[in-house]
Amino acid sequence: MVLDTVTRRQDAIVAGVRERLLGPHAPVVALLDVEGIREAARQLHTAFAGPSPVLHTFAVKAASLVPVLELLAAEGIGCEVASPGELALARAAGVPAARTVLDSPAKTVAELRDALESGVAVNADNRQELARLDALVAERSAAGQPPGAPLGLRINPQVGTGSIGAMSTATETSKFGVALRDEGAEQWIVDSFLARPWLTRLHTHTGSQGVPLELMAESVRVVFELAEQINRAAGRQQIDTLDIGGGLPVNFTGDETEPSFDSYARLLRHTVPGLFDGRYTLVTEFGRSLLAKQGFIAALVEYTKTSGGRRIAITHAGAHVATRTAFAPESWPLRVGAFDAQGAPKSTPEVVQDVAGPCCFAGDLLAREKALPELEPGDVVALWDTGAYYFSTPFQYNSLPRPAVHGFWRDSDGGIRFALVRPAQQLDEVLRDSGAAQVGALTAGTAPAR
Ligand SMILES: *Cc1c(COP(=O)(O)O)cnc(C)c1O
Repeated sequence: MVLDTVTRRQDAIVAGVRERLLGPHAPVVALLDVEGIREAARQLHTAFAGPSPVLHTFAVKAASLVPVLELLAAEGIGCEVASPGELALARAAGVPAARTVLDSPAKTVAELRDALESGVAVNADNRQELARLDALVAERSAAGQPPGAPLGLRINPQVGTGSIGAMSTATETSKFGVALRDEGAEQWIVDSFLARPWLTRLHTHTGSQGVPLELMAESVRVVFELAEQINRAAGRQQIDTLDIGGGLPVNFTGDETEPSFDSYARLLRHTVPGLFDGRYTLVTEFGRSLLAKQGFIAALVEYTKTSGGRRIAITHAGAHVATRTAFAPESWPLRVGAFDAQGAPKSTPEVVQDVAGPCCFAGDLLAREKALPELEPGDVVALWDTGAYYFSTPFQYNSLPRPAVHGFWRDSDGGIRFALVRPAQQLDEVLRDSGAAQVGALTAGTAPAR
């Protein structure tokens, strides 16, 4: 399995160089393993299969590319969206409203109204948002209409933090959801549900990378118990759906998919057996764990140099495609592969070197003090495990364009086939997005003071 993946992706580098997807005119490119994505989706379905109905959704922010959402939809996976843009992508991919969930801490009234009108499930983040839903539901009711979409409340079970503070969403003071352990909150939540028969879901999401599985499972357990409490108080099964979020961490240190969906589902079955007994519909929102290991960035080495004894390779992949790694390298280390100009793995002796990007700031590094075959101009570096939250979430520093994204798969004849997923951004697009059509805007009407 792992071996298949590794050879497929090496073959994709050779084919990508040969077909000029990567070259002087396109010095950085992103590649997605289509078979790998399908396989990950199947593993997710298998892990959670059981008497409880399950809607798996994909957190669109992890790979906001319409063909990827379409591919996942073909594998039975819907979308979790958190902005009008992400909702538009899900719609463009043909994902039905009934398989879409809207979570965001800052939904406007217009976004909420659109969700109710189109049937997209909403998880309210806070008390004020719940009040907005009250008004919209009342408006619809006055017009003789039902609420229109499944509605829920996001709970922060305040179970604690993982290893990356910025990625932990269920801490004591997190900005997300209604903090369950704050004084009076639990009773307020129960009363809020009893007063709103149309509120039928609870949602929690504990974090994204760096959160131990036990902590994620503990959040789910707390929210499950809360659902049971509300249903007892209501005297009926008012809460019929539990949305357990995403957050399964990814192994950035090797090729193994560890932890697996299966190991997390097994832990959940052990920690919260009632979750799987068929009384509740489950919703999941995995992002990184579905896509990270299915994509990588390939970039040309432009120059190599030494500086004060430090060996540096300057490549075309930097903070614009690997933003988190450049700005928070301790939390987001990446594995780097070294290939020659034809895309063959380099086997020369390893030397310690830094791998830098093209951006004009000193921290624009993808790897520090890595032992790699000595890189030379024209070589190719590969940044593994970057299928989620990397090239799909570009940062337009130095007006560097977004690279092209291609999907690849192995044909029946054993060759590698490519399909364009997102074209490279062109210079005229960079100009347009940088106000080129507004030339004169600041100088024309404002005569210099004398
Ligand atoms: C980001 C996010 C996810 C996905 O997290 P991953 O770590 O990519 O699985 C799911 N749900 C919510 C609410 C999120 O904000």
